[in-house]
Amino acid sequence: MFLRELTQDVRILKGTGPATLRALDNLGIHTVADLLLHLPRDYEDKTKPVPFSRFAEGKVYTTAQVLRHEWFGFGRMRTLKIIVADTSGEAALLCFNRPFLEQMAPVGSTVQVYGKFQFKYGEIQSSAFEIQRVEGEIRPESALSPVYALSERLNQMALRKMIRLALSKFAPHIEDEIPRSLRSAHGLPSKSEALRAIHFPSSWEEAKRAHDMLAYEELFYFQLGIALRMRSRRAKVIERRASPGVLSRQMRERLPYALTEDQESVLREIVEDMHRPYPMARLLQGDVGSGKTIVAILAALHAVERGGQVAIMAPTELLARQHATIAAHLVEPLGVRLAFVTGSVSSAARPPLLAALKNGEIDIAIGTHALFSDDVSFKNLELVIIDEQQRFGVLQRIALYKKGRVPDFLMMTATPIPRSLALTFFGDLQVSTIRHLPPGRRPVVTHLAHEDRRRSVYEFTRGKLKEGRQAYFVYPVISGSERLDLRDAESMASHLAKEVFPEFKVGLLHSRLGDEAKMEVMTKFAAGELSVLVATTVVEVGVDVPNATVMVIEHAERFGLSALHQLRGRIGRGSHQGYCFLVYSKDLTEEGRLRLKALYETTDGFAIAEEDLKIRGPGDMLGIEQSGDLRLTIADMRTDFELLKQARHDAFAVIESDPALSEPDHEVIRQVLARASPFSEK
Ligand code: ADP
Ligand code: MG
Repeated sequence: MFLRELTQDVRILKGTGPATLRALDNLGIHTVADLLLHLPRDYEDKTKPVPFSRFAEGKVYTTAQVLRHEWFGFGRMRTLKIIVADTSGEAALLCFNRPFLEQMAPVGSTVQVYGKFQFKYGEIQSSAFEIQRVEGEIRPESALSPVYALSERLNQMALRKMIRLALSKFAPHIEDEIPRSLRSAHGLPSKSEALRAIHFPSSWEEAKRAHDMLAYEELFYFQLGIALRMRSRRAKVIERRASPGVLSRQMRERLPYALTEDQESVLREIVEDMHRPYPMARLLQGDVGSGKTIVAILAALHAVERGGQVAIMAPTELLARQHATIAAHLVEPLGVRLAFVTGSVSSAARPPLLAALKNGEIDIAIGTHALFSDDVSFKNLELVIIDEQQRFGVLQRIALYKKGRVPDFLMMTATPIPRSLALTFFGDLQVSTIRHLPPGRRPVVTHLAHEDRRRSVYEFTRGKLKEGRQAYFVYPVISGSERLDLRDAESMASHLAKEVFPEFKVGLLHSRLGDEAKMEVMTKFAAGELSVLVATTVVEVGVDVPNATVMVIEHAERFGLSALHQLRGRIGRGSHQGYCFLVYSKDLTEEGRLRLKALYETTDGFAIAEEDLKIRGPGDMLGIEQSGDLRLTIADMRTDFELLKQARHDAFAVIESDPALSEPDHEVIRQVLARASPFSEK
């Protein structure tokens, strides 16, 4: 029997009263399988003593004498501090909200102490510890104890007991879900053994091996799903007409610059894909300012030349319009017909626009996600280009786009996707990368500034404005009503206009402005009529104004790493040196400090993306929380990269060597696929 087939209600286990059942319900545990998959989030290690002096190696577990009681703080904050000593030395136990420990651990008594200690204020101390009176030395336990996520009215002891019971009753009957050959090749324990060991390991090594087994299995099926999707896409035969590249050559002649080597090579990869007999699925990544737009337009011309239509989607109306303007300038002189499709297209203009798309009178449609609303259809959509949109849900919807033939699919992003996520969530995309920026760009100079030094940042900016450059000022909120303690874009726009830069023109841009108003501000800024643009993160992606060389981000510690990197990418796009000021406030958290430090230390988007993954985790980064099928519950994208590579390699090898999964060794895979819907081929 497979683990997932243990659908018996947990109440068949002895000792599950109504209160326990409710507590389990809160944890999402209903079946025996749910219970066995409620994995420990940590382990308690009381297998050997760890004295105070070795606190840095992990948790302390020791027998100690209580030397004295001290009190610190006043009134309600008065707190007990118990000074204890073991054979290695003294330590302090800070008993926040635990005054009763005064009675429990009187001076002179012997106690057993377990907990995380640190060196602070000249002493080894802890405020998160367990303490217990004992007679004589501690007796180490023979195994680690699991520490589970709990809900009210359920304690570790009770949960451990239930899981132990479930294991003894069911674990022996649980079958492996990966082929025996793979399991033995990697020296992995059986599933049944791994489940036992992940809950009640005898050592950290055993816990790790059990985790690796379960994570590998999860990743293996995830990758198998990707391999199957890829195979089914490649099975769709497309007849390609030739596109000699006349249009793209004509356009190149109109460009004021030559493509970089990187741009040439990614374009070659894309165009080659567009001539293969199956649909393209490619990810083009290149740091902000690396020149992806032009590559996309050149690729689009290849599709147009052979009679196909192209849809170019941007995440915001602002960006879509910017692309439309650039594209119009470049391709309309070649006779290519463009249309702009967003939600704000007026109701009068909409029917003829939709008709033109449907009749093939439009070659390239540029717009927002409105391009893919239900009433839009194309005559011959051959290529879909998605710019700066890596929210997974959106991509999935578009990838499943089934109107007519499956189009070629090119996704572009300036926020590099960490390798582990690329191989999983975008695992069926080929990846092209632009590594180097066009020549002549100087890396942006980044400064960290405490908010007390804001004045000098303003003065520096004034100097650049006087030289004719332009500046962005970015704030975390639009208006003061949202957060009283934060500077907001609206009030700062008027403050900067009236008091700081009265001699310059200041504009304001944020998401609550209407589309017309937004466009007007952006157009003025792009034309140099405004010197300063005060904004929220709407300027985060893609906006291209090469004359803007100063970026001031206030409350910088409140922005995510990728957002900061994107914002910084708005400047340093022209030939003048760019400057980015990260202005931070007093209440800087440790995490905020780490982010700013990372940004200060590198301008490499790939390094920043890896760092962001560590800080935020994959769900947050890609917006995949909602798509249940895609959640990895055991493997951790931050630490299981090697397992991931192995699993991917193995899954692809299985499909390649045996497309029909007909070898006897693949029987178990076939069974799992047959019984588990998320893996079925779509
Ligand atoms: P991103 O990759 O961030 O989308 P863009 O496509 O907006 O970058 O390009 C950034 C700027 O670089 C644009 O102003 C574009 O005209 C310019 N550019 C693109 N390719 C080149 C090149 N090969 N040489 C010089 N400038 C280029
Ligand atoms: Mg771009």
